[in-house]
Amino acid sequence: MAALSMNPKAEMVERFLDFAARGDVEKVTSMISNSSFLINKSGENGWTALMLAARNGHFDVVKTLLAKGCDTSPVNQSEQTAYDIARFWGHKHIATLLRRGQDGDPHHHVLPDVHADGENLYFNHEFLDRLSEKRTDSAWLTAKQTAPDTVFLLFYSLNPLVTSEPLKEDGRGHCSYQLSRLRRPAVEPLLGHPNTTLIFLGVEKPAGTCAPNTAMEGADDGLTAWFAVSTEEDPTELVTFPDAQCSFLQAPMPGLLKLSDNEAGVVAQARAVLAWHSRYSFCPTCGSGTRVDDGGHKRTCLREGCRSLRGIHNTCYPRVDPVAIMLVIHPEGNQCLLGRKKVFPAGMFSCLAGFIEPGETVEEGARREVWEESGVRVGSVRYVTSQPWPMPSSLMIGCHAVALTTAINVDQNEIEEARWFTRQQVIDASVKAKHAVFSLPPRQAIAHYLIKHWIGMQANL
Ligand code: ZN
Ligand code: MG
Repeated sequence: MAALSMNPKAEMVERFLDFAARGDVEKVTSMISNSSFLINKSGENGWTALMLAARNGHFDVVKTLLAKGCDTSPVNQSEQTAYDIARFWGHKHIATLLRRGQDGDPHHHVLPDVHADGENLYFNHEFLDRLSEKRTDSAWLTAKQTAPDTVFLLFYSLNPLVTSEPLKEDGRGHCSYQLSRLRRPAVEPLLGHPNTTLIFLGVEKPAGTCAPNTAMEGADDGLTAWFAVSTEEDPTELVTFPDAQCSFLQAPMPGLLKLSDNEAGVVAQARAVLAWHSRYSFCPTCGSGTRVDDGGHKRTCLREGCRSLRGIHNTCYPRVDPVAIMLVIHPEGNQCLLGRKKVFPAGMFSCLAGFIEPGETVEEGARREVWEESGVRVGSVRYVTSQPWPMPSSLMIGCHAVALTTAINVDQNEIEEARWFTRQQVIDASVKAKHAVFSLPPRQAIAHYLIKHWIGMQANL
């Protein structure tokens, strides 16, 4: 009797699984291109190619299978997914790769896997140490206010005082301004004024160390303190300007985007806190007057027994408003969804964004905003990086998201137009090619970073 031979299809599956187990990327790739049905096939005990590659630590095979759309959800006879297997055998990098698929979205592989580093983003530099423990030390704060090297930044209607002549180009083709660093005598008349707000921003971080030396007692600690002084009334008569060339930088755009990275970080903090003071003069709970505490980082109701003085709530502290901002990637990974508001400069498209609502996760907020603004359904949402945006007090939470549907239905109240752009079109826009069909938001914006990150370009250049 002739030996039973396997049918050709089963034999092919067996060979395919064998290549995956042995880590032969080339063979695995060519077999899938010829016979795409192979990709999710399982053999003995329900082991798929992905599981075999995961068990044997073949990172490249796992990556290839995922890129080809391999399903990560099947389990073998021991109820293990490929992810469980990778973890069990200690292949951490493979487990990390596979975990992205654990939320059941088969399109996760279109997300870029470049490591995000948002530290270089505009507004993200922490040039000052906030030294929050000193906010309640009124003796120290008072002493610092009269110390000769203390820096005062002046804001008028939330616009910072800068040297008015734009500095030379910074090498990246951008003109920049410098904040005017005033001393006590220059702002003295303003400090006594009832409508002036003063906030303690922090101290300069000593070069080369991460934390200032606070071991020395009193105000003779050698630390240079920075304060922001703010008024809603024209301070020209009261303040001694360092020179006649000073002016108030017109906010929000584009002036505030033309500072050095260090000074942008200071303004991110100062402007958001000052904006809060300018709109929350009275107790939001009972309407009484308030007292400014904690070096300008708290307002306390003056009415005895006010509910705002009990319990946990945020009427006493500066507000931070979370915004989800996301680059939505096409299910096939080769296009991204961008939209434009009427107020944008001509030709500019950017990431969709919106405020997170109470009771919502970042992921749900991102999905809802994309749906409302563009009619596109989103599956996986992955956090990339964040950026404070002091216009006036947003925290931009940058994400990459994968679309589940592609038909666009724009909410005209929010945005004028939304479109899918191909990778090539995005690259053309990012290098400002002549034939580019749109322009990117400025490099200082997190949207710019998210878009560049997706196409795998150095994200902050
Ligand atoms: Zn009150
Ligand atoms: Mg919205």
